[in-house]
Amino acid sequence: KNKPTSFQVASNEYTKVKHVIGVVSGKGGVGKSMVTASLANLMAEKGYRVGILDADITGPSIPKMYGLHGPAQADDNGIYPPLAENDIKVMSINLLMPDEEAPVIWRGPVISGMVKQFWTDVIWGELDYLFVDMPPGTGDVPLTVFQSLPLDGIVIVSSPQDLVQMIVKKAYHMAKSMNVPILGIVENYSYLVCPDCGKKISVFGESHIEEIAGKMDLKVLGKMPIDPSLAELSDKGDFAKAENKYLTDAFEVLHQLDRVKKEE
Ligand code: ADP
Repeated sequence: KNKPTSFQVASNEYTKVKHVIGVVSGKGGVGKSMVTASLANLMAEKGYRVGILDADITGPSIPKMYGLHGPAQADDNGIYPPLAENDIKVMSINLLMPDEEAPVIWRGPVISGMVKQFWTDVIWGELDYLFVDMPPGTGDVPLTVFQSLPLDGIVIVSSPQDLVQMIVKKAYHMAKSMNVPILGIVENYSYLVCPDCGKKISVFGESHIEEIAGKMDLKVLGKMPIDPSLAELSDKGDFAKAENKYLTDAFEVLHQLDRVKKEE
């Protein structure tokens, strides 16, 4: 196993992180950032020290969700991650670029190098959980990110519309070949609750997530509906106020990880 065996994973002398969790998806737009931030909020709510490393360099949305703007402070020791309102530490390309509207047009190797620096050169301090919003897909960049960070496990995000089985299988094989366990799957855009009659509408078709998870022996960590209040909080930069109603089963899994590490 190439998993770190010590309780603390360090990247530099100022950083001690207990658990690094990657959040992956097969393609962009399935709500990977929303799920990453929801998991981070959940653990912060429970009193853990949490950070988010935004490795989705070409579509960085985490700083905006928490109303954070650059430039991040830096000195000879490293880069300091700004704090969201609920004390989550955040690092993202958007906190380093002079113009956050400008697109990132770098090629894969430069992007991978940047993500590595988010791990090695950022002064994360002491964290219980660092969530990594991974670049979508299973291409070159996500692969290098996988190899550069000491991931404890990954969470797969998919939507009912996806060819879920294929995406989950790809992520599963990538994680397996890197020796990283899959903690579970989150389905986003699962349904919409009619504001008038309360009926659940399966906007993107019926879900097959339980069936697929069952076949592959993976846990379903939650199903998130299309919730306009979440989109609104995210757009306003107020996501620190988003109450975690949907990913409650994820807590047990993440908390369990803490117990396993302590016993080692
Ligand atoms: P990704 O990181 O996979 O590209 P995002 O998390 O940025 O996707 O989500 C894409 C857009 O959809 C964002 O504007 C986000 O606010 C919105 N969104 C994602 N999930 C939900 C949800 N469950 N309910 C409402 N809006 C959502």
